[in-house]
Amino acid sequence: MPVLFVGHGSPMNSILDNTWSRGFARLGQLVPEPRAILAVSAHWFVDATLLTSDVRPKTIHDFGGFPRELYEIQYPAPGQPELAAQIRARLGEQHAALSGEWGLDHGTWSVLRFMYPEAQLPVLQLSIDRRLSVQQHLDLARSLGELREQGVLIVASGNLVHNLRDALSRMHSGNHATPDWAQRFDDTIVEVLRQRDTQTLVQLWPQSRDGQLAHPSPDHFLPLIYAYAATDDADRASFPIEGFDAGSIDMRSVLFG
Ligand code: ZN
Repeated sequence: MPVLFVGHGSPMNSILDNTWSRGFARLGQLVPEPRAILAVSAHWFVDATLLTSDVRPKTIHDFGGFPRELYEIQYPAPGQPELAAQIRARLGEQHAALSGEWGLDHGTWSVLRFMYPEAQLPVLQLSIDRRLSVQQHLDLARSLGELREQGVLIVASGNLVHNLRDALSRMHSGNHATPDWAQRFDDTIVEVLRQRDTQTLVQLWPQSRDGQLAHPSPDHFLPLIYAYAATDDADRASFPIEGFDAGSIDMRSVLFG
């Protein structure tokens, strides 16, 4: 199985027919049909590594101030408790725990409802432990690569540049120009992924100034680390979706393998 990183952007994409939602639909055609999906979402950023283990994970509406239509969306994909237990063992039981307290949040369903509108495939979600360093995330996630042999598609969902304050001020002012630091950070990531330059990748946040501007908090950056960690030198990176929304929300997606 290939591995996907998807830039999900605004929750509004899940009810709009736009460049991004059409791009998400295309992603479903670019990969073979998986047996199950392991989603790593920017929006489950907590003090632990947790895995959803429900038979039927809840659809979580983890945002405020959006139209009612968004809160009515359900993504009724089944879970797969046995696979959750297996992934937990793979990550190391001292590092990861099963949880029935979350479900599928919009980082996951706003993309999957276009990739797999029937919601027929089992989906698990993995949290991101906010206490770990980028290097620790990379080390933790390496064992996930073996799931690919079992037909599990890893979908890591974040945004390569995600400074909401900047994006909102651009939306309000109508200035949709992409700032230099955002373009530079995006260019750097493309280069790093093409070269598989792991050393530079782990130093992009928080060490670089562009990294700090691109990610005041690393939650939308770290899913990339999970996707990358599950790949190796044989996996070429390609970019099925590119571009910025509202000037500085980087919508680039990465297909590895
Ligand atoms: Zn998000």
